[in-house]
Amino acid sequence: MTVYERKPSVARKFLMAGRGGLNITHSEPLDRFIARYGEAADRLGPIIGAFPPQSLCDYCAALGEETFVGSSGRVFPKSFKASPLLRALLGRLSANGVRIETRATFEGFSESGALLIADARGERREIAADATILALGGASWPRLGADGGWVERLRVKGVEIAPLLPANCAVVIDWPADFAKAFEGTPLKTIALRHGEARSLGDIVVTRRGIEGGPVYALASALGRALARGEGATLHVDLRPSSMAEALAQRLARPREKQSMASFLRKTLRLTKLEIALLRLCGPLPQAPDALAERVKNLPLAIVATAGLERAISTAGGVRFAALDDDLMLKKLPGVFVAGEMLDFDAPTGGYLLQASFSSAFVAARGAARRLRLAEPK
Ligand SMILES: Cc1cc2nc3c(=O)[nH]c(=O)nc-3n(C[C@H](O)[C@H](O)[C@H](O)COP(=O)(O)OP(=O)(O)OC[C@H]3O[C@@H](n4cnc5c(N)ncnc54)[C@H](O)[C@@H]3O)c2cc1C
Repeated sequence: MTVYERKPSVARKFLMAGRGGLNITHSEPLDRFIARYGEAADRLGPIIGAFPPQSLCDYCAALGEETFVGSSGRVFPKSFKASPLLRALLGRLSANGVRIETRATFEGFSESGALLIADARGERREIAADATILALGGASWPRLGADGGWVERLRVKGVEIAPLLPANCAVVIDWPADFAKAFEGTPLKTIALRHGEARSLGDIVVTRRGIEGGPVYALASALGRALARGEGATLHVDLRPSSMAEALAQRLARPREKQSMASFLRKTLRLTKLEIALLRLCGPLPQAPDALAERVKNLPLAIVATAGLERAISTAGGVRFAALDDDLMLKKLPGVFVAGEMLDFDAPTGGYLLQASFSSAFVAARGAARRLRLAEPK
């Protein structure tokens, strides 16, 4: 068995994920976990079920990396790193006789269905494999290796692929220059964001070109899709999600006396300089308490774009499930299986991306083993 990897070393994105502590999966109940995959939940459900979060934790433990559940329910290796797990995994592959060939790029299939593999000098070889598992990633952070170059190579074979779009990424806002200069790097703490029916809560940060942070990432794909459809994409910010508008309006109805509006807002609602500047971005502050409270609860921000694939944490889109059988084998290319972020799913951060990659790898490997009548992975 041979792994072909285009980069000089394997698993660069996995190691990058390790820099943030390697949130490998999540401990919530399985039905809630699977619902996080949204439209892909029906197809990913049985795949996650075949190798669920507990199996992934057991697998890590068997490789010498115990995991633990953080306060948010997210699961991490105790070392908070990817490198010890990767070292152990590579050791196991080597012990099982798996060869890894780096600087070897998959360039599609020959007429006869053989794999075309190019070396660093661009010289191509044809490999007639008994079974192939493609795990070429999405297209985010392309400098780490996965650049979506496989899309055309599979499309010419008639494989249906949903366009690759950035997911879990920052969004771009056309801030006035003086606003960006004054507030770049400033956090907005414990706010809620809403786009249509979808809501997310947490902390975000203002950047020179927009905003970033967990709640932004959670809504970025939906915003990207709205923009791609040519619709306006607006995010509504609730600066005080734990208070009802009526309660805020009551506090704002107190006499202001000689205070400036800014110091009145600072004292009554504990709004920060950034929050007050945001409220002013969409016009002069309303004087009526109800209208002012409404702006605090429902501040519209026009999103002009989502950040590009270069810095997105993941990729939405990919090989459509309709193009695959239940073993994740391509219907148009018997013997070729697909796993990981190449698949057409989108999920929030929280361990769902790596879990889906491991679970789909398990199902694809089991499918390949069945096809070759080998012992199935457990
Ligand atoms: C900054 C960052 C932090 C992240 N943190 C987390 C996290 O904490 N938790 C989480 O669940 N997810 C996280 N992710 C997402 C997670 O890392 C990915 O979902 C996961 O790595 C996808 O695995 P994959 O094997 O499908 O693709 P990849 O990890 O991208 O691997 C694909 C491999 O295929 C190789 N390749 C591509 N094309 C070719 C070709 N033509 N020929 C040969 N080789 C090729 C690439 O070089 C690469 O090594 C993070 C991502 C980023 C960018």
